[in-house]
Amino acid sequence: MQFLKGSKSYSILTGTCPVCQKESMYVDSNPYKLQNILKMHERCSHCGTKYKIEPSFFFGAMYVSYALGVAVSVAAFIIAHVFLGGELMTTFIAITLSLIVLMPIILRLSRNIWINMFLNYNEAV
Ligand SMILES: [Zn+2]
Repeated sequence: MQFLKGSKSYSILTGTCPVCQKESMYVDSNPYKLQNILKMHERCSHCGTKYKIEPSFFFGAMYVSYALGVAVSVAAFIIAHVFLGGELMTTFIAITLSLIVLMPIILRLSRNIWINMFLNYNEAV
């Protein structure tokens, strides 16, 4: 993943600070520990970037989460129905299961994408 460092993809995929990319924004970097899934540091301890730019900042991540959910559903549909030849009911169950299983990742990714729309990498900090 180091080769992506400095690009937005690095911060999005690793959940690191969008400005310095030196530490995780999250208290627990494993999204599957559900009790900590939304716990974020208030500021980056390296560059002091405030993650919650304004009150309720991360509500906007819902739009991103919606788009990611649709993308996952379409991918699950293509795999289950087109490649594996599943019937419609099986395909429906496959889509639902994929969304449930990937929910923590979708949630974190959408926050990472959202904050990266507003903050840019800065090598100097
Ligand atoms: Zn930082």
